[in-house]
Amino acid sequence: MRRVGPHSFTEIYYAGCNPSFVETSDGYVMIDTPQQPIDAVRWREMLEEKAPIRYLINTEPHGDHISGNAYFPSVPVVGQVKLQECFERYLAQFGTMEEKRERLKQMDPDSVFLLGHPDYTDPHGPTVTFTDGMTINVGNHTFQIIHHPGHTAPQTSVYVPEEGVVFTGDNVFHKCRSWLQECDPWEWLAALKSIAALDAEVIVPGHGEQCGKAYLKDQAQIVENWVGYIDRFVDRGVSPDEILREKVAVTDQDPYPIGQRLFMHDERLTGMIVNNLHRRIKEKKEAAA
Ligand SMILES: [Zn+2]
Repeated sequence: MRRVGPHSFTEIYYAGCNPSFVETSDGYVMIDTPQQPIDAVRWREMLEEKAPIRYLINTEPHGDHISGNAYFPSVPVVGQVKLQECFERYLAQFGTMEEKRERLKQMDPDSVFLLGHPDYTDPHGPTVTFTDGMTINVGNHTFQIIHHPGHTAPQTSVYVPEEGVVFTGDNVFHKCRSWLQECDPWEWLAALKSIAALDAEVIVPGHGEQCGKAYLKDQAQIVENWVGYIDRFVDRGVSPDEILREKVAVTDQDPYPIGQRLFMHDERLTGMIVNNLHRRIKEKKEAAA
């Protein structure tokens, strides 16, 4: 557990995203949930020992941010309207109960008994939604919830002015491999500019340790590097499969190692990034022609 503001905390050591919370004078507001069931249940018990959890805000639809919602069954979920629309589809990517059970047996045996446990249901999506943004006041804290599409379409930042902290989800990967597998890179760059304009000293990324605004330029550079790299292949008429048959110069675009138990996805991630960016760049050029 890492303190990132006077009343703000994040957990950077779990397998999964950086789940976070703000302790207000009227209970907790959480940002995303621990991915591993046992971590999620420990968290809830630890928090509820002190005060109720008022809201859970999801920053994006990726499983490492939303699957733990299952273990906070009575907490209202806040999310961008597109997150509500795609919630079930993303959950389905995590596989059937049996597939999940087999995976947990290998990765996290302590969590196995929590799958299908009678106290919990499937993860629940947002019931409180917004389009461009909304503000929630809890106790003495203000939560400015802002739609910042980029890493994903419903991507959301949570800015807490009293804390000088903004929680960005995966629009920021701090010194670990950036996942551009479904991003709109141009929206992502615009989102980074909007985050830079907030009066926040501390940025809590989706993965990696907390950082300051200076890192936003590094993050933008990684997105720009990838776009520039793939753009040259598109111009020469080289297909994604042809790019992937050669060795992709991943570390020239993004110097950081893949983190948090995700090593086995390294090659698959590169394939997804190449395919996503190739398609988007090609479409953009065709639309402009
Ligand atoms: Zn993500």
